[in-house]
Amino acid sequence: MARAAVSGRLGARLRWQAATLVERREETASAQTLVFDVPGWAGHLAGQHVDVRLTAEDGYSTQRSYSLASAQDADRLELTVQRVPDGEVSPYLIEGLAVGDRIEIRGPVGGWFVWRPEQREPVLLVAGGSGLVPLMAMIRAREAEGSRAPFRLLYSLREPADRLYAPDLERGSAGLDVTYVYTRSAPQGATRPPGRLAPADLVQWGWPPDFEPTVYVCGPTGFVEAAAVQLVAQGHDPGRIRTERFGPSGG
Ligand SMILES: Cc1cc2nc3c(=O)[nH]c(=O)nc-3n(C[C@H](O)[C@H](O)[C@H](O)COP(=O)(O)OP(=O)(O)OC[C@H]3O[C@@H](n4cnc5c(N)ncnc54)[C@H](O)[C@@H]3O)c2cc1C
Repeated sequence: MARAAVSGRLGARLRWQAATLVERREETASAQTLVFDVPGWAGHLAGQHVDVRLTAEDGYSTQRSYSLASAQDADRLELTVQRVPDGEVSPYLIEGLAVGDRIEIRGPVGGWFVWRPEQREPVLLVAGGSGLVPLMAMIRAREAEGSRAPFRLLYSLREPADRLYAPDLERGSAGLDVTYVYTRSAPQGATRPPGRLAPADLVQWGWPPDFEPTVYVCGPTGFVEAAAVQLVAQGHDPGRIRTERFGPSGG
């Protein structure tokens, strides 16, 4: 019986499902949030992702992974796609897909890089560029569940125009601290000069290791590896550092 239930859930996750684009929202000049209607969606946890499959009329097919940007919301899913110049899939999702069009998705995928509402410990979120997407889902899930777990977000990005979810993060939430780490140009009046995420940023804006936070790091591969090395060097328990790599070290 239990085995049948598990294999049923697994089967649903492995099956490709039709997803209809119902809305798109511009986040920045090069990133959009796409809202899909997926009838019968079985639910997801903050931090999970889906596989997206596109199939051309001649049968050519390709797939990529995209994190779920929203907390669980009935049959609706939100993905935020950052356009990768010369990319095959991301420019199509942003420019080629029209409201009413259908794609295929499979998931949710991932059981480690997730935040569950029953977690009470402090949480440190470290985002590089579009690596903010699954971390924003955690922030949204925390709010939706009325969780009082203290959250801190360090968000590394090139310049102010690249900020994803700016209105949501500006509105804020009790118990959520947000720090922007600009790598190329900072807004006027910023006290921190532009530069890559440094150990001092993690010390100043993160949690001390003895608070035993769970740390989620997401972004380009090089960013994730550098941040994880710094966190471990500062004494964070490697078993409490969860990472998700989005791809090449650029970005
Ligand atoms: C678990 C997971 C979750 C992801 N979630 C998201 C998400 O929420 N939002 C999002 O926008 N992307 C996300 N990605 C990245 C996404 O899967 C694609 O890799 C990305 O959209 C590029 O695909 P593309 O077809 O446009 O580019 P491709 O045609 O695959 O690549 C074109 C060129 O860009 C380089 N490139 C590929 N990916 C990246 C990248 N991420 N950064 C910089 N250069 C790159 C390639 O090396 C290549 O040179 C996620 C990846 C993973 C593994």
